[in-house]
Amino acid sequence: MITKIKSLGYFGIEPFLVDVEVDISKGLPAFNIVGLGDTAINESKERIRAGIRNSGYKSEPKKITVNLTPANVKKMGTHFDLPIAVGIMEGNKIINIKKNILENYLFMGEISLTGEIKRTQGIVNGAILAKEKGYKGIVIPYENLKEGSLIKRIEIIPVKNLKDTVKFLETGEYEKYKLPEEDESNKVEIDFYDVKGQEKAKRALEICAAGGHNLLMVGTPGSGKTMLAKRIMTILPPMSEEEKIEVTKLYSISGELDEKNPIINKRPFRSPHHTSSSVSIIGGGKNPSLGEISLADKGVLFLDEIVEFKKDVLEALREPLEEKKVSVTRASYKAVFPADLIFIGACNPCKCGYAFEPGDLCTCSSGEISRYMKKLSGPILDRIDLKIEIKRLSEDELIGNPPRETSSEIKKRVIKAREIQRKRFGYDKLNGSMTRNDIEKFCILNEECKNILKAAVKTLNLSARSFDRILKTARTISDLENSKNIEKIHILEALSYRMEDL
Ligand SMILES: [Zn+2]
Repeated sequence: MITKIKSLGYFGIEPFLVDVEVDISKGLPAFNIVGLGDTAINESKERIRAGIRNSGYKSEPKKITVNLTPANVKKMGTHFDLPIAVGIMEGNKIINIKKNILENYLFMGEISLTGEIKRTQGIVNGAILAKEKGYKGIVIPYENLKEGSLIKRIEIIPVKNLKDTVKFLETGEYEKYKLPEEDESNKVEIDFYDVKGQEKAKRALEICAAGGHNLLMVGTPGSGKTMLAKRIMTILPPMSEEEKIEVTKLYSISGELDEKNPIINKRPFRSPHHTSSSVSIIGGGKNPSLGEISLADKGVLFLDEIVEFKKDVLEALREPLEEKKVSVTRASYKAVFPADLIFIGACNPCKCGYAFEPGDLCTCSSGEISRYMKKLSGPILDRIDLKIEIKRLSEDELIGNPPRETSSEIKKRVIKAREIQRKRFGYDKLNGSMTRNDIEKFCILNEECKNILKAAVKTLNLSARSFDRILKTARTISDLENSKNIEKIHILEALSYRMEDL
């Protein structure tokens, strides 16, 4: 007798339906799983058998064959445990499944040796698939309930163990478990108010947050680059419901969700180390997996010591930063992942780190300094609208106590500026993503501004690309002031976010 249970597999981030067919027949006792499963699936046999036995169900040793269809696509993950166990129990007539349950629900979950259903990855994607394909609901581990309930208008059936599952299979009823409590224990609040001085950097971060611009911070070690970069998270607008689902989905499939707080409701901040490989940053690999750039979707990707990253990593960032998505092509597949983020790079100005500091602290020759900065490839610099120098605070700045703004005050301006941009483009597009056509349409300059720019092109030897970057930045500065037109003061400020040679 063959029992068919619905589950799912995924390719990259795209889920697809999988039929788990379980055949129980007479013959020598055996347990085979066919249909291109990975090692985790093949290792599931012992877990499933022990899980059934230790839940108090008696199962005669028989010949069990499990087929995962479509059979020609690779399948990964431990979540097939539950549908396979259901098939074995039904096939052995241990349980008596209510009519239409197997047709109407998807099943996902890993089984422990004791018969508990353990958390697994890809739940959000599974719930979305069940909804899209018109299923009534999905049976998931209770431990995944929080992220599962992100998806509305579909029945989410949480099970803690095999017994819970059997109850649902036989009666269609299930325990209405409450959502686990939010864990606020190790929350550390940071704020721009904590940052003394560094007004220029704070302002640059505000502009980036408002207009979705990328930023490069070049500065002395210990001047607070990382501390500043992290604080951009405190001034970005809250995530919309759609954004939360999109990002939680990415983390769910990557197995990156936090057990206690599994819904991503804060924009991600990712800061991979400079020794990271191109696959871990961009994505790809044998089975398409997401890279840091996709895990930073709707948030910030911060590369500290950016000049130390491998050249191929920096080169590979070019396209995603422009397109807001990553295309990974391998011999066996092609996958596209989202990568809509603000990019922040940081580095020292020279090998010793002290080129910006007064006196003769820096021990590098001018040749060494320019070679050091040349490690930053031109194409990636082309994607960065604002570049700033950061120095250590002077004694006066350290002692003084000028008024400082809180992050929530800055955030208000950012949100207003984003509303202006939404009206301008008609959807959630930001000035940082303006095309040449957009620039011509939305960055109209008066004579005074034109003259300043003409002079700048001449004396600063600006390229066409850096010219566009200045206009985009000026547009955001004027939006932050709710100014319809770009004025002289906005152009001058935009010009200040550039560095010679970069
Ligand atoms: Zn130096």
